[in-house]
Amino acid sequence: MSGHACPEHGPPSEPEHRFCEVCGRNLVTGEPASPSVSTTWLSSRTDSTACAGCGAAYAGDEPYCDHCGRRRPVGRDHAELDLGCVAGVTDRGRRRRGNEDAIAVGRTGSASAAVVCDGVSTSTHPDTAAHDAAEAGLAVLLAALADGADPEKATADGARAAAAAARATAGPDAGESPPSCTYVSGIATADTVTVGWIGDSRAYWLGADPACLTVDDSVAGQLAAGRSLPPALDADPESRALIRWLGADSDDPEAQVVSLRPAGPGRLLLCSDGLHHYLSDPTALAAASSGRLIDVARHLTTVALDGGGHDNITVAVLSFTPSGGSVP
Ligand SMILES: [Zn+2]
Ligand SMILES: [Zn+2]
Repeated sequence: MSGHACPEHGPPSEPEHRFCEVCGRNLVTGEPASPSVSTTWLSSRTDSTACAGCGAAYAGDEPYCDHCGRRRPVGRDHAELDLGCVAGVTDRGRRRRGNEDAIAVGRTGSASAAVVCDGVSTSTHPDTAAHDAAEAGLAVLLAALADGADPEKATADGARAAAAAARATAGPDAGESPPSCTYVSGIATADTVTVGWIGDSRAYWLGADPACLTVDDSVAGQLAAGRSLPPALDADPESRALIRWLGADSDDPEAQVVSLRPAGPGRLLLCSDGLHHYLSDPTALAAASSGRLIDVARHLTTVALDGGGHDNITVAVLSFTPSGGSVP
């Protein structure tokens, strides 16, 4: 929706900005800027004011064009978000009619952070859930960091806010398959990399000893990690069906959280399955991750598109540079 505006200074000059450029107010939570820490963040939500189908201007915040009835898109088909220390790309891919992934990237003080959400395509309005969750998650995570919370607490706070936002997307009448999505967040500070997730979007550490940091919340992912499944689940070992997600039909899962303190520099990659379906090997991802962060995100998106692009693709990349010099 186009409701992101500062009560004193109006809408931001750049459509992807989720903070007021004049006073720094958070345009999702409405909170004024922290007096001591500068916070900046961007989102892939579209600000289009005219229908892509018939060209008519949208009236108000209705979810459909009142001229031709076409559903109003929530996210952009292709968005590139770049803050230097964190960057990302989301793309519709080659087969899907819309982009149901969402991405938000930000920085506060010396920390950078990103959130990637993948709307569950069998649910209603998955793109709304994904954007509501990504924006609420990153806004709360950044506010927690600005308030001095440690990255693990900020990660948990952000995921809880995202879960509440995705649940609220359904409104009072949740229906049979309410809006739902996956969630993965990443934070890079001066000494720590922290990720949190619910679902099958992934985080990879790309530095010395590259590794996938997340375990997919799917039947196949749990079995591959040697974990036992909830007894009620039919354990088709090939099943990529989610066992945890965000939405009104989810029993409020807590994010799983992992932190590491790398001795040397590297990158933290977050992605939806539109990328890791095509490229999932940590060493191969690390080999493709040098250069400017936005170029890495563009390149990995192209890899998925060239592979077939069967799904929406979202890639976020954060830079990690340990303070005090790298330890051998
Ligand atoms: Zn303002
Ligand atoms: Zn229209």
